[in-house]
This record gives sequence, structure tokens and C-alpha cells, in this order.
Amino acid sequence: MGVGMGLGLEFDALLAGILGLLIGSFLNVVIYRLPKMMEQQWAQEAAELSGVAPQPAATFNLLVPRSRCSACGHVIRWYQNIPVVSYLFLKGKCAACGNPYSVRYPIVEALTGVLFFFCVWRWGWTPIALAWSGFSAALLVLALIDWDTTLLPDDVTLPLLWAGLLVAALQWNPAISLNSALWGAVAGYLSLWLVYWAFKLATGKEGMGYGDFKLFAALGAWFGWPALIPMILMASVIGAVIGIAMKFSSGLREGGYVPFGPFLAGAGFTAMVFGPQSILRFIGL
Ligand SMILES: [Zn+2]
Repeated sequence: MGVGMGLGLEFDALLAGILGLLIGSFLNVVIYRLPKMMEQQWAQEAAELSGVAPQPAATFNLLVPRSRCSACGHVIRWYQNIPVVSYLFLKGKCAACGNPYSVRYPIVEALTGVLFFFCVWRWGWTPIALAWSGFSAALLVLALIDWDTTLLPDDVTLPLLWAGLLVAALQWNPAISLNSALWGAVAGYLSLWLVYWAFKLATGKEGMGYGDFKLFAALGAWFGWPALIPMILMASVIGAVIGIAMKFSSGLREGGYVPFGPFLAGAGFTAMVFGPQSILRFIGL
């Protein structure tokens, strides 16, 4: 009986991992297209404000058009789009023109698979496993979009925040009360908002963006207010270390800006896997 249940859970986790690979394939599309969709919308709004008749644009969303090779326009067939497997089989190149695809695509797919596997292995097929899987997918998308474009789309941060409050309200996570989640969201937002304005008044520069406040508010909702200090410490320490390393290796982009979102996301993943209080031990406090 015990062995059977153990194997059952591992099989469930494996199934979740495969589902994660497929979702990871979709996350690649979100990471690539969502910033472009936002730019298109801003251009549209700017055109309307300046009284120019909006240009009829080709449909471009998360589902349309089909994925294509960016070099030759070859439409990627379903059998060329099997997570990780197709990348390995095609040796990371376009089947039509041989243009190399970024190794990041299979990495995102594999990472999503591992995260989903972890959630079901840890929590079984339960609502909270579903919730943490969604949390993982959102954090992964936010980290990579922020890294690429220094944007944290409201379309992801705000649902993540609401979902955190909802999970607490439904008491899916017995460790977090709705009260703690609510104050976590409020304190998460306000604390970074205060840091932003203090920094701006002192130096005239913007140290981060409003998206960071919303992401931190979301983390506060998911982990409760006591988790905010460990998470911000971890994100700041690792962010500073990577920022300095990039400065010395002259890997910094124009303006020397290091996005903060990926480090907040990293703290969120650590808190999910090991618990928020373990973070203090990791960073030696
Ligand atoms: Zn091609």
C-alpha cells in the first residue's frame, strides 16, 4: 500500500512534469510576444492621441500567428515544436534554413517541467500544487521579460497578486492567513515605493520601476508579510553581486541598468521550495 502510494505520487509528478514541458513551450511564446504586444498597443494609443488614423495592424497575439523562424519565416510544424525533444532532434536549428534557435527555449521548457514536477511531487494533485505551479510559471515569465526588456507587464503581475490573495482567502496554504497575505501585499508595494522615491529625491535617478512594486506586493500576498524582509534582502544581495560582476565583465547594458525583477523572482522561487525563513540562513543571517 505504502509503496503503491509512493509510486503513484511519483507517476503523478512525472505527468505534471510533462504537462510543465508543454506549458513551458507556451511560456516561451508569452515571453517573446507579450512585450511586442505591449509596444504595439502603446504605438496604437500614441497614434490615437496624436490624431493619426490608427494603422490596421496584422493580428498579433499569444495564439496568432503560428510560430515562425525569425530568419526565414518557415512555419514551425507541430512535430518540430515538441518541447526539448525537437530542439535536440533539430540540433537547435531551423529545419528549413539552419538558423540557430536560442538554447533558452528548451531551458525554459525543461525548467517549467521541473517546477511542475516539484509542485506535484511535494503537494500531490491538490489545489495548492496547481496554485504553486501557476505561481512558478508567472515568475519565470516575469523574470525573463524583465531581463530582456526591463518591463514587468501588469497583465502578469496583477493576476499574480490577486491569485496570492485568493489562495490565502481559500486557505489552500495553511501557513498564510488572509490577514498576513493582505498586509504582505500592502507592505510589499509601499516599501519599494518608498525606496523608489527616497532614491529618486536623493540622486535624481530611478532605481527601479513600478512593476517591481507590484511584483513585490504579489510575493507579499503569496508568502505573508513576515517573508518580505528575507525576500528583499536576498534579492538585493544577489542583485548587487550580479550587478557588480556584470560591471567588471562589462556585460552591463546601456545606462548600466540591472533589472530587479529576476532577483525578486529568484527570492520567490527560493521561498516556495525551501520556505521564506530559510532564506535568512542562505544569506548567512
Ligand atoms: Zn529558418
